[in-house]
Amino acid sequence: MNPEPNKSDQETFVIDENDRYSRLKLIGWWEQERIAAAKILVVGAGALGNEVLKNLCLLGVGTIYIIDFDVVQESNLTRSVLFRSRHEGQPKASVITEMASDLNPDCTLIPIEGNVLTDIGIGLIRDMDVVIGCLDNREARLWVNRMSWKANTPWIDGGIQEINGVTKVFVPGDGPCYECGMTENDYRLISLRYSCPLLRQEDIQQGKVPTAPTIASIIGGMQVQEALKLLHDLPTDDGSAMVFNGAANQFYKTKFTPKEDCLSHETYEDVIESELTHESTLQEVCQFLELEEATLILDRDFLVRLNCRTCESHKQIDRPLCLVGSSEGVCDSCQQPLQPETVSEVSLNGEFANRSLASLGIPDWDVIKIRTPSETRFVLLNKAG
Ligand SMILES: [Zn+2]
Ligand SMILES: [Zn+2]
Repeated sequence: MNPEPNKSDQETFVIDENDRYSRLKLIGWWEQERIAAAKILVVGAGALGNEVLKNLCLLGVGTIYIIDFDVVQESNLTRSVLFRSRHEGQPKASVITEMASDLNPDCTLIPIEGNVLTDIGIGLIRDMDVVIGCLDNREARLWVNRMSWKANTPWIDGGIQEINGVTKVFVPGDGPCYECGMTENDYRLISLRYSCPLLRQEDIQQGKVPTAPTIASIIGGMQVQEALKLLHDLPTDDGSAMVFNGAANQFYKTKFTPKEDCLSHETYEDVIESELTHESTLQEVCQFLELEEATLILDRDFLVRLNCRTCESHKQIDRPLCLVGSSEGVCDSCQQPLQPETVSEVSLNGEFANRSLASLGIPDWDVIKIRTPSETRFVLLNKAG
């Protein structure tokens, strides 16, 4: 006598062709509900970002944020499945959102036309299940790594060059992070750029690496597969580089070793929720925390002004240092190099305590770090919108 098939067998073998996700649900460990509930931030809307976003939408990921500050150019069209020539000159984040929405109406896509270095708060990253980095430079990767660690959110890095590529999964905790895997040469390349008093923003944005759309599909596909594993609590090779050599068709993995003194290993614990936003001032933050003595530690050095020692003039800047290009660091009158006057912490008794946090370069929905004589406290700012 044949036993009745049990419930899980029935679920496995009944295919509802009217259910968009029915074929995916045939995969044994698949839980479409987890994917529908997932929140993912995609950083960068270039070749990798296009492939990643395409896959996330086909899978039905519930909420997807995408950040990019660039506009679509004709030369993007050979590697970006979601861009068309009619989009030339339009912001990539908005175009990709509009086009990807058409792939699957179940997904909520939220574009951020901005710079990952300055326009994303740690609150947003804390709210994500996974961050997927689709970046082309070390500075932005290092920044995403540090923010993900502070927020305790896993992130997946992808990198491509010609027909080769690499995928790296990082899960905050005791394991190695992106910075642990940085070599002396990586640091040297970054410090070359930082050695000038002003960050050479122009140079960083020129990091145009030759890539084929085929490797973007492979690595973007791997990044999303690793995200699926994280969403399902399946094991990942976190803390490793998974390297694909497309020329030789070789695939290998190398494990990073955690660095004792790694500067990225800081996680913001016991975050205090508040009604404050980045329009609030440090004075208001301290009233809320009932503190009489406190210092706000800025994640980003803030450039207040540039001073000329030769003609004793100064230029007011009031922007995060990382946004100021070296071309601005020259005196308009005498052409001599200007000296930056930066702020990295703000005292409750100092001159900036009644300025809005936003005017000190703190982004929307951030977590701010307040040092008191006895401890360090972390305050989550609300979304302004
Ligand atoms: Zn590390
Ligand atoms: Zn001057």
